[in-house]
Amino acid sequence: MNQRQPDSIAPGRLGALATLPVFFKLAGKVVVLAGGSDGAAWKAELLAATGAYVKVFASAPGEKMRATVHDLAHVEWIARDWTPKDLRDAAMAIGDVESDDEARAFRDAARAAGVPVNLVDRPAFCDFQFGSIVERSPVVIGISTDGAAPVFGQDIRARIEAILPQGLRGWAQAAKEWRPAVLAKKFDFRTRRAFWERFTALAFSKADEKPRDNDLVALLAAVDSGLADVPRGSVVLVGAGPGDPDLLTMKAVRALQSADVVLYDDLVSPRTVNAARREATRIAVGKRGYKPSCTQDDITAMLVSLAREGKRVVRLKGGDPMIFGRAGEEIAGVIAAGLPVEIIPGVTAASGAAASLGLSLTERDVARRVQFITAHARNGKLPDDLALSALTDPRATTIVYMGVKTLPLLVARLLEEGIDPSTPAIAVERATWPDERRIAGTIAQLPELIAEAQISGPCLVLIGAALGGRPLPVRATSA
Ligand code: SAH
Repeated sequence: MNQRQPDSIAPGRLGALATLPVFFKLAGKVVVLAGGSDGAAWKAELLAATGAYVKVFASAPGEKMRATVHDLAHVEWIARDWTPKDLRDAAMAIGDVESDDEARAFRDAARAAGVPVNLVDRPAFCDFQFGSIVERSPVVIGISTDGAAPVFGQDIRARIEAILPQGLRGWAQAAKEWRPAVLAKKFDFRTRRAFWERFTALAFSKADEKPRDNDLVALLAAVDSGLADVPRGSVVLVGAGPGDPDLLTMKAVRALQSADVVLYDDLVSPRTVNAARREATRIAVGKRGYKPSCTQDDITAMLVSLAREGKRVVRLKGGDPMIFGRAGEEIAGVIAAGLPVEIIPGVTAASGAAASLGLSLTERDVARRVQFITAHARNGKLPDDLALSALTDPRATTIVYMGVKTLPLLVARLLEEGIDPSTPAIAVERATWPDERRIAGTIAQLPELIAEAQISGPCLVLIGAALGGRPLPVRATSA
């Protein structure tokens, strides 16, 4: 029977590619650049950075080009217009020219000389295009949207920039330098691969440190002795910010991108969780009264047992981990288990809400103190040891976390204690989420307004004279 064997199934064909990304070695080669505009000056700098020798043909170069020629030894200015002869020895030709006619002439001359050609802002005349660049040289990433929209390309670039640590260049350089030593060991294929896998894991885990020769020695020793892979787990407490995923820090994104497991709170938005590596296991550990939930001890125990298995565990916590996040218990638990722990700060809900409202929490002569309080004691009631005199300070801005349920009682206490009943107060529900809501009034009015509004999401109460201004409208975010 002519039955098809599984291993004979052809892999799918590559889909259409708008352009082919290739990486030109230009060191020591001549590049002809026609034109002296600011744009041409930037191209001259870019090309010179590759080690190319750039010949600029321009009868009247602008300021920037003059400065570039002056500063860069590899950029030579020839004070006349280009001629077809000039293209003969070039490895590449770039033209920033005035008219389509000149562009056509330049392209034809370059083609006649067998030189690939690019004309700035005239894609129809180009053999190749320049992409946006993410530079961690020797790691170089080029991005092309095939002219779809430059802003789109820039945003893609910014996202890649955010996840690749600057220190990567040092590690890539070390890889080039260490390569001969690894080859000299004459490892078999699997061992060599094991070496580079360990190298890569080390590079990303110590990206902000410089590679040292000791690292090479340790890596070689580890694979040489055939050490069983004993991965070392770790725990990172990561601040997820108040909701909008764009408020993650670059460090947070990098931690998420190298996570094996992500344990996240209820307060963390789905798109923020989605910033995690695709292969990472995601575990919801939200603590909420009305749902089956994990206790703090369960969560700490999970962090420890996952890290003990060698996993890189990210504990993704709403806002900033160090503010009303019980981070202390998690840190102590991980340290007690002898495992490494790192904390990456996040934007706390108060900062998110203030930014969204467009209201500064401090104001000269109006608010000189900012205080974050929780109105929720261990037993769920208003704490009975609140420092009321601090809360009634007319020069203070108070941000109440977890304060909706106990707000009527808190406000009653503050009024008794003599706070001005007309003090501005704003409740912000789901700050920085697309469905953020605000309820504004005076401190005396707020409990009733909040009761009417039926708050169901996370909510902050901001109190103080600094909040009397007019809030900005709610902005659409991508949470
Ligand atoms: N670590 C968090 C706070 C955790 S306590 C931080 O730094 O923001 C949980 C409380 O935070 C909630 O009850 C609510 O008062 C507040 N909160 C968290 N996210 C919020 C948001 N997006 N909008 C309003 N309040 C929020």
